[in-house]
Formats: sequence, structure tokens, C-alpha cells
Amino acid sequence: MGETLKTSAIVLRAHNYSEADQLLVLFTEKMGKLSAIVKGVKKPKSKLRGGVQVFSHTNMELFLGKNLATVTQAEPINTFAPLREDLFRMGCGAYLAELLDSLTPEGERDIDLYRLILSGFHLLSIEEPWLAVTAMKIRLLRQGGYQPQMEDCTDCGQGSLAEKFFSPELGGVICQHCLSKKTGPGIIKISGESCVIFKQLMNMELTKLNRLRISANAKRELDEILDLYITFCLGKKLKSKEFLDNLA
Ligand SMILES: [Zn+2]
Repeated sequence: MGETLKTSAIVLRAHNYSEADQLLVLFTEKMGKLSAIVKGVKKPKSKLRGGVQVFSHTNMELFLGKNLATVTQAEPINTFAPLREDLFRMGCGAYLAELLDSLTPEGERDIDLYRLILSGFHLLSIEEPWLAVTAMKIRLLRQGGYQPQMEDCTDCGQGSLAEKFFSPELGGVICQHCLSKKTGPGIIKISGESCVIFKQLMNMELTKLNRLRISANAKRELDEILDLYITFCLGKKLKSKEFLDNLA
């Protein structure tokens, strides 16, 4: 026999499962990531529809079956509608959802990650999207155990570097001297401004991020570095990255 779980949850993704049913990937408060079927949701009269839209924060009741969970009740708390009304925000939301999905195993409760993705979706629905998505990429990586070292050389340990280069493989910056010993692709120069902004995006209170002034060059560098680093950490390119690239 299965049991019933009452938990609030965030809908990361929804896939068509059959003609009337969908398969959701949820991040729940009580059990972390969880896949669940929502039956009959594509019928117009379904009472569950409002609470299972992608990105929604919802109070759910789930029946935990032997193989798969089933959503039996869904009362939305916040549907984060702005994330579905604008293509770029939608792409950013999908990116964060996919990143979180890729960083976490099923069934592992992680209240910090739960709170982080919730504040991320909130931020993304009110704030300038680049700022929100970039701060969240950095924070999800940190929470997932992939915080890069942006200060001292990751290879020789030297500090106060005049010039820094980012190595996805080493998980941080390296100095000019260590760069000359390295060959191979994927190492890029990173400006002092980008390093400073990186740390601010990681550590500043989320509500204060809009005070930052960031040059187009730093945005470009941070995009490039994070894309290379995330691809390296996950061992794959995120599908939603392609969607975002096509919008640019
Ligand atoms: Zn070095």
C-alpha cells in the first residue's frame, strides 16, 4: 500500500504522459525532487490544472504508489505567471529548473535548495531577467557543491592576481604563469570587474541586486564562463540553453 504525502512543491517541468495525463518533475519541501503523474489534467474540467502549471508553487497532496507518485490535490500558492507570459523569462525559468533537476537526485530533502529555487522564481518574475538568472545559476551551483574559486589561482594558490583566466576543469581562476603551462580549449580571460560582480551576485541580498551596475562586457564574460562551467560540471549541455540562445 502506498501512503499520502502533503507538501508544498514547485513544478519544475511537465511532460505529456498520455492523452489526458502529464508527468511532472516537482521539487517538494518534504522530499526534494519527485516525479508524479497528474491524471486527467489535460481535460478542460480538471480541478488540478491551476496548481500544476510549470513554475507554480503549490500545496499538494500526493499518493506515493509503488512505482510512481500521483497528484491527488493541488492548490496554487503562487503560479509565477510572469514566467509564462514572457519568452525570455520563460526560458530563464526553464534553465533554472533544468539546472536544479540536473544537480539533484530524486527523493533527497533539501530545504535550502527548496527555498533557493522559490526565491529564484520570485526574483525572476519581478527583476531584470539576466540579473535574476545569473545570480541564481551561481547560487544553485554553490548549493549543489560546485562553487568555483574566483580569488586565488586554483593551480598554484597565488593570490592578488593581476590577470585572471577561468578554467572550467579546475573550477576557478588561474594565473598567467599557470595558464602558460596549460593547453587545450575552454580557458578564458576574466576581467577584474567580472570577478567582483560574480561574488556580488553570489553573496548580496537578492532584493539589493538591482543596485549593481554591470557592463555589457562583464555580462558577456559571465555568460560564457557560467555556460562552460555548468556544461563541464554536469557533463552535458542544458537543453533550455539552446532555447535561450535561439531567442538572442
Ligand atoms: Zn597559478
